[in-house]
Amino acid sequence: MKLLSGINARANFLKSLKRQVANLKKRNITPTLAIILNNDSYASSVYVANKQKLCKELGIKSKLFKLPASTTNKQMLALISRLNKDKKINGLFVQLPTSDKIDDDAVINAICPDKDVDCFHNQNVGKIWTASDASNLIKPCTAAGVIELLKFHRIPMEGKLVAIVNRSNIVGKPLATLFLQENATPVILHSRSKNTKEICKQADIVITAVGRAKFFDQSYFKKDAVIVDVGINRDANNKLCGDVNVESLKNFIGWLSPVPGGVGPMTVLMLINNLVILTKKQHGGK
Ligand code: NAP
Repeated sequence: MKLLSGINARANFLKSLKRQVANLKKRNITPTLAIILNNDSYASSVYVANKQKLCKELGIKSKLFKLPASTTNKQMLALISRLNKDKKINGLFVQLPTSDKIDDDAVINAICPDKDVDCFHNQNVGKIWTASDASNLIKPCTAAGVIELLKFHRIPMEGKLVAIVNRSNIVGKPLATLFLQENATPVILHSRSKNTKEICKQADIVITAVGRAKFFDQSYFKKDAVIVDVGINRDANNKLCGDVNVESLKNFIGWLSPVPGGVGPMTVLMLINNLVILTKKQHGGK
C-alpha cells in the first residue's frame, strides 16, 4: 500500500504560498484575514488556532472576532457588513458550526463574495460549477485539498471513475465539480444510494467522507484503487481515525491517505490560498 501523505504535499504547497505572500509584501500588501467564532466547542477553537498559526508562519495578519453564543443573527450580520466594507480586511469567514441563534445560510451569503475565503457563497459556488476553467478561481477548501493531494502524488484523474461517498456542500458536491474540471467521471453516493459497495468497488478513486469510524473495509475497494479518506473520527479507544478500516486492507496495493496526516493538512492551506488569490484580485489581479 502506498501512502498519500498530506505532510509532503503541504510542505511543497507551503513553499509556493510563501513566495506569493513575500511578493505581495514587497508591494506593501499584507494579506489580512478576519475570523468570526461564536461557539465554545473545543474542536472549533482548535481549527481556528491552526488557521491562525499558519497565518503567523506565512506573515499574514489574522484578526479573531470571538462573539458570545448569545450573539443574535442581526448582530452577526452587522459585523459581517462592517468587515465587508473594511478595506484592510482581504478575506473573512465564520467558523462553523455557529450557535442556534444564527442562520448559517444567511450568514454565508452575507459575506462579500470577493472576501469569501471558504468559497461557500452561492455566487462563488455557482462560478466553479459553470467555469470552463476554474484554475484561477477560489475553491471550497476540503475539496481543493483533495485535488491538490492527488496532483502532488501524480495520481492520474482524467477518464477515471471516482466514487464520492458524501453529498454535503463542503465535501461531496464541490469535489464532484472539481473532478469534472480534471476530466474525471465522478459519481456521488449518499445514505439513500443503492449498491454503494458495488459502485465503490468499480471505482479507480474512492473518496470516503461519511464520518463513521472504520466504516469502509477492503470489500469496498478494488485492490489497486486510490482511496482518499476525508473522515475525521474517534475510534473505540478515542484515537483519531478515518472512515477506512486500515487493518482490513490486507492484499491492497493501491494508495490510501492516512488520518491524521492526509487531507487535513491540505484543507487549512487551501483557505490561505483562497485569501492570497482574493488579495491579489483586490489589488489589480497580480
Ligand atoms: P455530513 O454533512 O454529515 O455528510 C456525511 C455524508 O455521508 C452525507 O452525504 C451522508 O448521506 C453520507 N453517508 C452517511 N452514512 C452513509 C452510508 N452508510 N452510506 C453512504 N453514505 C453515507 O458531514 P461532512 O461535514 O460532509 O463531513 C464528513 C466527514 O468529513 C466528517 O468525518 C468530517 O469530520 C470530515 N471532514 C474532514 C475535513 C478535513 O479537512 N479532513 C473537512 C471537512 C469534513 P446523506 O446526505 O444521505 O445524509
